[in-house]
Amino acid sequence: MICMLAAALGPLAQVLAITPALAALPAVPSTAAAPPADPHATEQWAPIPPVVRPAPETAPTPPPSDAIVLFGGKDLSEWVATDDAGPARWKVEGAVLTIVKSAGNIQTRRTFTDYQLHLEWRTPKGITGTGQARGNSGIFLGATGPRDAGYELQILDSFANPTYVNGQAGAVYKQHAPLANPARAPGAWQTYDIAWTAPRFAADGMLASPARVTALLNGVLVQNDFALAGETVYIGPPSYRPHGPLPIKLQAHRDPSPPISFRNIWIRPLP
Ligand code: MG
Repeated sequence: MICMLAAALGPLAQVLAITPALAALPAVPSTAAAPPADPHATEQWAPIPPVVRPAPETAPTPPPSDAIVLFGGKDLSEWVATDDAGPARWKVEGAVLTIVKSAGNIQTRRTFTDYQLHLEWRTPKGITGTGQARGNSGIFLGATGPRDAGYELQILDSFANPTYVNGQAGAVYKQHAPLANPARAPGAWQTYDIAWTAPRFAADGMLASPARVTALLNGVLVQNDFALAGETVYIGPPSYRPHGPLPIKLQAHRDPSPPISFRNIWIRPLP
């Protein structure tokens, strides 16, 4: 039977016959097989969202009666440091919250599922840097872990500051560019109004329905019920991990540009 098989295989049988010699060759180190992951692979540079001039900046929008005020200008009692769950160590001065980059990200004490969120932010006049290193921060609509784990809606100075379009202000970071660029100039307050539907997971951990986000930047629609492909990541494709209610997190990006500020942050959890 073996002879019949060898005859049928013909030249392949000869190759099989020398496999003991191949087995004696040194193994190729496994690290040589995997090229380093490239963060540029998930950057999108076109099409560039149209620039829209938004309405002029206004005074802070007061929260509605059923809102939870997450930052009303007095203190950071609703927030903790992401790194150690200790007090949030960003600066509160004159009813304005300013990032202290060395203190790391901060996140809410409370956790949320579906909600409406209002938040105002300002890049300082005289901001420096270019691209992602110019007023970078972000709102993690759900914080799934330490550092930048979660679902990030980008904050950046996008007033005449070219970068990859899925990383400019209003982008779901590295997943979806904004529908328009209604950025105000540095020094002006800008508003985010966001509706977030958290992802749902089945009992076995499989995704039952994706996260969805609608967002207005300065009153202009920048995300329209966009379904996320997973958590936002700097390198590689997004993916989901099961979770329940999550805190909301603000990013202390380590670029060297002057820090941005926030005011008037409130939320309405949805039933
Ligand atoms: Mg960011």
